[in-house]
Amino acid sequence: AFSTAGTAFSAIAAVAPDHAHPYWTFERVADALGTGPRIPRPLAGVSTDTRAISRGDVFVALKGERFDAHDFLSTARDAGAAAFVVSDARKAAGLGVPTYVVSDTLVALGQLATAWRRAWGRSVIAVAGSNGKTSTKELLKAAFSRTLVVHATKGNLNNLIGVPLTLLAIPSNAEVAIVEVGTNTPGEVATLRAITEPDIAVLTSIGEEHLEGLGDLAGVLREESEIFHRVTLAIVPSAHPEVADIAKSRATAVLSAGLEHASITPTAWGLDDEGRPWLDVEGVHFTLPLRGAHQAANAMLAIAAAGACGVPLVDAAAGMAEMPVPSMRGAWEQLGELVLINDAYNANPASMRAALDLLGRVGSGQQRVAILGTMRELGAQSAQQHREVARAALASGADLIVGVGDFAAAFHDLAPADPRVLATPDFDALWSLIAPRLERNAIVLLKGSRGMRLERLVPTLSSWA
Ligand code: ATP
Ligand code: MG
Repeated sequence: AFSTAGTAFSAIAAVAPDHAHPYWTFERVADALGTGPRIPRPLAGVSTDTRAISRGDVFVALKGERFDAHDFLSTARDAGAAAFVVSDARKAAGLGVPTYVVSDTLVALGQLATAWRRAWGRSVIAVAGSNGKTSTKELLKAAFSRTLVVHATKGNLNNLIGVPLTLLAIPSNAEVAIVEVGTNTPGEVATLRAITEPDIAVLTSIGEEHLEGLGDLAGVLREESEIFHRVTLAIVPSAHPEVADIAKSRATAVLSAGLEHASITPTAWGLDDEGRPWLDVEGVHFTLPLRGAHQAANAMLAIAAAGACGVPLVDAAAGMAEMPVPSMRGAWEQLGELVLINDAYNANPASMRAALDLLGRVGSGQQRVAILGTMRELGAQSAQQHREVARAALASGADLIVGVGDFAAAFHDLAPADPRVLATPDFDALWSLIAPRLERNAIVLLKGSRGMRLERLVPTLSSWA
């Protein structure tokens, strides 16, 4: 019908969506952004990645530090984009695609996400905290999945891009959405909460994290507790009583959950020989495939949320008992006779302590080895925090303690002559230090910040074993 070449309208005619999104039309995008073309025509959805565009999508051009999607608008058009959201109108000129011009495309992405979240209209559970967000998100997903159609954050997409994309990906038939919310700068949780409009907020833990941005523990608490603003239910970890106090001033209702001193606790719990937590909750007994007491505490948060949403406890427990284990987050890997606790995904002081606690509770009679790599993003407190975790390692019951990167200096200061300790600033020197001391059936904890990529050691360990 709109057949003449060269005008914006001919381009619109050309790009009919393969499938119409149940919500998105040009008019609704204009409503969400407060500007731009209002054409009574459906769109397929919202995309930020030229490689993943569906025909008929509105393409939002994000600007990163090294990457500016405004340079790929013709690629986006060729891939089927039916509309653009840009901050630089000149880049879209002449491409024949209806364009929304905004001052900040990242803000626009958030506005679109909120619009769909509201239109969908069901419950959103936000998961924030210093440690255990992804674990708890996966526990929640598993706990809800037998009863409800669940949408949850994929992987770790918890930032100003990942959270809006998670919301935009909520399918219409989902009955609950579970959204991981991360931060490394003050204000990020508040922004993400405003975008997400959660009904329930779960805060997993408060610990030293991203201190470069958040300053100190008080700063972390201030930042993370922004998640409680306006929620009807806050679920707080009993291990951090300071969280409940703040939550009470913000949320309509507060429930504490954890292993003790909480309104939701197990009647009994423990760890099996391989560090898997088992729990008895109101007569329901179950064992988690995750490892460590901290995961049992996370599971209690999930049970509290499931209960609040009407999920029967037996279904929540059965779902969690059969959940997939996220890779490199405490995964238990048998390499020959050797056991590797692969926790190389990331590290900060609290998660280091949790992992050392786990190592201390498993592998009786076996050589216990802790390989600890730099904890990044600790700012001015870095040296002190490395020393404190080094001290915890010395007290953990580990037989061999290996410090890599910033831990080298910490162990050098703290235990220069301790025969249990090996240390080097240099990853490449690591294996030749460890190999002569490692026993065949050792149990080895591998943990450091993402940037350390300690998993590089796994092939070496594996061929040695
Ligand atoms: P990220 O900031 O990378 O998104 P996250 O908050 O999503 O991290 P997870 O990926 O679940 O956290 O776990 C990271 C590390 O923290 C793992 O080593 C895990 O064992 C540990 N951990 C999980 N839950 C807790 C907890 N409640 N307290 C302390 N450490 C925990
Ligand atoms: Mg995470």
